Amino acid sequence: MHHSTDDHTIPPVSPDLIETELNEALLALLRPAAAFILGLHAFLILIYPLQDPWPLWGYRAMVTGGSGAIVLTGFFLLRRGQVDAARVYPFAAFFLALPIVADTAGNYYLTRDPLLLSYFLLTAVLFGYFTLNRRWFFLVEGFNIAAGILTRLATGERFAESAPYAGILFASLLAAYFLNLAHRRSLMRMITLRHGERLAREVAENLQHAGAALTSRLSTPAVLEAVLNNLANVLDCDRAAVLLKEGDSLVITASKGFPPPGGGASYPKLFIGDASDHGIFPQIVRTRMALHLTDVRQREDWIYLPGIEPAAVWLGTPLIRGDEVIGILSLVRTSQRPYTREEMDRAAIFAGQVAIALQNASLYEQIAAFSQKLEKEVEARTEDLQRAFTHLEKLDRAKTDFINIMSHEIRTPLTVVRGYVQMLARDPSLAADPQIASYINGINMGSFRLQELVDSLLVMVKIDNQTLEIAWTEFAIIDLLKLVIGELEEILKSRRQTCEIEPAVADLPPIIGDFDLLQKVFTNLLLNGIKYTPDEGCLTIGGRVSSRPGNDPTAKGVEIVVSDTGIGVPPEMQELIFTKFFQTGQVDLHSSSKIKFKGGGAGLGLSIARGIIDHHRGHIWVESPGQDENTLPGSHFHVWLPCTQ
Ligand code: ADP
Repeated sequence: MHHSTDDHTIPPVSPDLIETELNEALLALLRPAAAFILGLHAFLILIYPLQDPWPLWGYRAMVTGGSGAIVLTGFFLLRRGQVDAARVYPFAAFFLALPIVADTAGNYYLTRDPLLLSYFLLTAVLFGYFTLNRRWFFLVEGFNIAAGILTRLATGERFAESAPYAGILFASLLAAYFLNLAHRRSLMRMITLRHGERLAREVAENLQHAGAALTSRLSTPAVLEAVLNNLANVLDCDRAAVLLKEGDSLVITASKGFPPPGGGASYPKLFIGDASDHGIFPQIVRTRMALHLTDVRQREDWIYLPGIEPAAVWLGTPLIRGDEVIGILSLVRTSQRPYTREEMDRAAIFAGQVAIALQNASLYEQIAAFSQKLEKEVEARTEDLQRAFTHLEKLDRAKTDFINIMSHEIRTPLTVVRGYVQMLARDPSLAADPQIASYINGINMGSFRLQELVDSLLVMVKIDNQTLEIAWTEFAIIDLLKLVIGELEEILKSRRQTCEIEPAVADLPPIIGDFDLLQKVFTNLLLNGIKYTPDEGCLTIGGRVSSRPGNDPTAKGVEIVVSDTGIGVPPEMQELIFTKFFQTGQVDLHSSSKIKFKGGGAGLGLSIARGIIDHHRGHIWVESPGQDENTLPGSHFHVWLPCTQ
């Protein structure tokens, strides 16, 4: 059986394999064939006695009985599993066929009965079809001829008389032979196809397995190892190597079947060279096409490595990533067996998988390195942050401690000063002198403001330490507001400003809270309003019943809005102004007056207000279109307080 190498749809099948497959087909056919022949046998034996005369009956009975016994013994042994089917079936077929062929031939020559002639032809031709094994075919048909010749000799017939019958016999044998040939051919074609199909499926499966094995590797050495391990399942070769490009050279990075480079050194680098280089490797890198050397000896530039069997056939397939050749898959055969087209296709598919796997691995390595670097950086940053945070925490503690100590330390001497000043103010002899009276008044005012500041600081500290205590009482907010405005009347007058309470405020339901603390809140808000509004401005206090802003619409409360016609608060500051010691202006420009336009303060007022309102589970926030000293957009400070504790 011959297959040309360019037949790339069906790979060649070994003659051994075909012979075994044919034998199997024969065995499969023999069972029905044996049944058929047995039936024919029985039929013939039945009709023989009807013929007159019935010649040679002793001979017939002997042949038929003997062969029948052999057949039955064979099947019996086969059933008991004592002999191999491959031996019994052909044997049985032969012994079944023998009497029929001999009998029919003999009868025919004796009787010249046309019916027997047709039996005879039928048997001969059927045998041609069934006996796929050539040996059996020639044996059985040889018997046929022998029977014919023997009968002729036995009857003493002359050649001239038997010539037409001999011709018929020969023609039938010829027909049987061609039928046998055609049947064998078609079976062989089928076997080859089936074999090719199985091979293709195996190859596809192996390729798929190899691909999966390759792409699951996450490091380049692991990929290369998987390449060499899977290669044998995918492609038949005696030696293999993966050459990877490093700069303008190719380096053997993995190999199988090559001796390790001598003395622990690495393999030599292969210089790729420029466009004029017609070397084997530069050619592949430049053309990005596989190179198949069907006879390596014809290449003068082939480098033979010492100590290994010289290469006979070589296939170099480029490993391509994107548009670039990243390396070469080199496959060597030491015997003169060129690669088929199909094998070259397979090598190209495998090389594609290798390239993808290598790319995956290199990406993964990059990502791993990057994430490691990132992790370290994050660690370092976290440490920095932690340090900064601890530092800030310490600072904050220190500040609170300082305020706490200072306010207590100042308070005691301050009380003494205030006591004596008040005594001096009440002394009529001193009050008589206007100069001294104004000095005393100055000291009194100063110590009062100092007292206020210390009080504010103490409240602040309590808020920070969460030790502020609320004396809960129920009262109408209008009463509180009236009291606050009454106290600020002088100041308002001095700035020629007005402050109005909208009528709706009087109708608001009572709230529950600490009267003194809330008084502080609204005093601070109104003082700020006065401070950040130019002379002749006006303040308004509105109010309404509303639900808690934001999270809980079921909680009912009272919302008071203190509005002014002042400079306003820029949006980016609207949260910041509620933090401790925060001022929008420059500290060194402060006139530190409590009531002057833009007069500075300690930056505590709003933060204390928020602390107190928070302790009431209320909300305080500001709304303002922005800050502008010319257009005076004004601010609206909202205070929401719950109606129930
Ligand atoms: P200060 O003692 O500086 O007034 P506050 O805590 O009372 O401290 O206020 C913080 C900052 O908020 C002020 O410095 C000011 O810039 C701004 N601010 C407060 N109230 C008003 C207002 N009604 N109009 C404009 N800006 C205001």
